[in-house]
Amino acid sequence: MSRRQIFAGNWKMYTTHGEAMALVEGILAGLSGVKDREVIVFPPSPWAKAVAERCAKTSIAVGMQNMYYENEGAFTGEVSPAMVRDAGCRYVLIGHSERRHVFGENDGEVNRKVKAALSHGLEPVLCVGELLDEREKDLTDEVLARQVNGALEGVDAAGMKKVIVAYEPVWAIGTGKVATPEIADGAHRVIRRLVGERFGEETASVLPILYGGSVKPDNIAGLHAMEEIDGVLVGGASLKAESFLDIIRVK
Ligand code: PEP
Repeated sequence: MSRRQIFAGNWKMYTTHGEAMALVEGILAGLSGVKDREVIVFPPSPWAKAVAERCAKTSIAVGMQNMYYENEGAFTGEVSPAMVRDAGCRYVLIGHSERRHVFGENDGEVNRKVKAALSHGLEPVLCVGELLDEREKDLTDEVLARQVNGALEGVDAAGMKKVIVAYEPVWAIGTGKVATPEIADGAHRVIRRLVGERFGEETASVLPILYGGSVKPDNIAGLHAMEEIDGVLVGGASLKAESFLDIIRVK
């Protein structure tokens, strides 16, 4: 089954405006000749519009790292789905582990955000993944079921076609501990089965499932070779154009 191949960079709370623009220039300069894969960048929200304007009519798509689910209101510090659209973003990260574990987002909020994104024409990149403790207690499949089913409650089949899932085991994010290709592939199979049970085999078979967690140029090849891994969501190694490009150009 040939699925979309997606290479996404999450810049987290890094880069000045100047650094963000230089980073996108560097990535663009190295992308000529890259044809069979999609590239998405998630800059910090204040730079999203400028990055999206620079990326218009290029092969890079842009997303926001987070948003709130309400349309507008007295929600100081939050960004609405319409604002994400207005900034020129096509994608939005939902339920990133740092949102869940630093800011206390729960599955119910993640679900409201997924539905709000879809109803505003945004394509959510839904992040799921277990804690180290949960893996050690053999609870990974249970956690994935709770997060996937919780996030997708009330989403219809048409909406699901716009969703990308990123499997990001929390113990592998920003720690330098990458999941083995086999561990990641196994978790992706669980996620695809869960989506199949909810939406049918056809929808599940085309769902892009990305791996995220300490992806680097020197470990991408093993991950990319796995049947169930349809791309990667890269944090630290996406902050330098050369290392992100080395990941994108994996054979
Ligand atoms: C991420 O931010 O989604 C991520 C996977 O980070 P890192 O690659 O730095 O582990």
